[in-house]
Amino acid sequence: MPDPALLDRLRRAVDAGFDAEVAFLGDIVRFPSLRGQEAPLQDWIARWMAGRGYQVDRFTLADVPMASHPKAAPMVDVDPAGSVQVVGTRRARNAGGRSLILQGHIDVVPEGPAEMWTHPPYAAVVRDGWLYGRGAHDMKAGVAAMIFAMEALKAAGLAPAGDVHVQTVTEEESTGNGALATLLRGYRADAALIPEPTGGTITRAHTGTLWFRLRVRGVPVHVMMAEAGTNAILSAMHLIQALQAHTVELNRAAEGDRWYGEVKSPIKFNPGIIRGGDWASSTPAWCEVDCRIGLLPTMEVAEVMAGVERCIEAARAGDNFLANNPPEVTWHGFQADGYVLEPGSEAERVLGAAHEQVFGAPMEERRSTAVNDTRYYGRYFATPALCYGPRGEGAHAFDERTNLEALRQTTLSIAAFIADWCGVEEVSAA
Ligand code: ZN
Repeated sequence: MPDPALLDRLRRAVDAGFDAEVAFLGDIVRFPSLRGQEAPLQDWIARWMAGRGYQVDRFTLADVPMASHPKAAPMVDVDPAGSVQVVGTRRARNAGGRSLILQGHIDVVPEGPAEMWTHPPYAAVVRDGWLYGRGAHDMKAGVAAMIFAMEALKAAGLAPAGDVHVQTVTEEESTGNGALATLLRGYRADAALIPEPTGGTITRAHTGTLWFRLRVRGVPVHVMMAEAGTNAILSAMHLIQALQAHTVELNRAAEGDRWYGEVKSPIKFNPGIIRGGDWASSTPAWCEVDCRIGLLPTMEVAEVMAGVERCIEAARAGDNFLANNPPEVTWHGFQADGYVLEPGSEAERVLGAAHEQVFGAPMEERRSTAVNDTRYYGRYFATPALCYGPRGEGAHAFDERTNLEALRQTTLSIAAFIADWCGVEEVSAA
């Protein structure tokens, strides 16, 4: 546990820097860093870090051998060469302490109809102690917290006694390839912290995610003789209903799961985008549906993919047109495993102590029914990976917002964690 005098120093530094932290958060929320459009923000962050003495490595997914890793996910619709990753490193004077990766994603999901937002989604409006905007909560507040935790140490006259890599990545919302790219670039540490907005809880487990695109054909005819043709939208609906029933089966099988047995229907299926048809008075000749389905950490990705394909196969057999015109299934994004942070790691103990000291209550745990990047560190690179961060609301929804007081406290608990995990050295006042 950090000693109270040290915590006090850090608290004063966090408080003194908090206006700058909120301004920084506003700056990064104002970038609409949607998938494929993250580069301007990543360039801005790279310059910001370089200006504060970080050694900055800026590279794209095309600069690393993604295909060399079995967990790289397919990327359709976006160019890997445009997907910029940023790693800012502060090396310890003598690498005596434990090293750390602080990682946050800066990609955001589409904001939807702007008129459904109370405040414009990229205006970063501050009101009554909350900052509003797409990505404010998921997870630019966490990015601000990890960066300003490092700033607080520096302002307090301290330097981590182990190497720290501060990373901002893309693709968290679609493949996870950004996180994987940093590992394939060679960055390793004794622990990783990803400050996703967990409301001050530690993520004990997260589910995996698969993306697939269904393509269905139809026979277009004038609606006056609809029986002579087929309707691709209705065929797609038929398949969606079959997948819903399949998900109910998967959730039934999940009832005895060690980590998710207590969670109601932890496996979520979502048809998320639909396109199709050309004319209101023609039966549609085509329909495409982008879907997402979850899986538990104990399930194999290949097994769940095969289950989806079997479900579609069975559903089409019962449909006259689809029986002769098989729908196409493309796996076009996430092929993500779930992950369990096994209890008892030293990294979690240190974080829990820092949290308790700042918040005055033990750190609670949660089980997430969505994916995050910790799986790469924890499952494939044997690095304890902690998912813990600030509090807010409205992830992937309207009026997304982050609570500023929670951000301040989380910045302090992360600063205390860094100090305790890496150890600190006094830096002679400049
Ligand atoms: Zn997130």
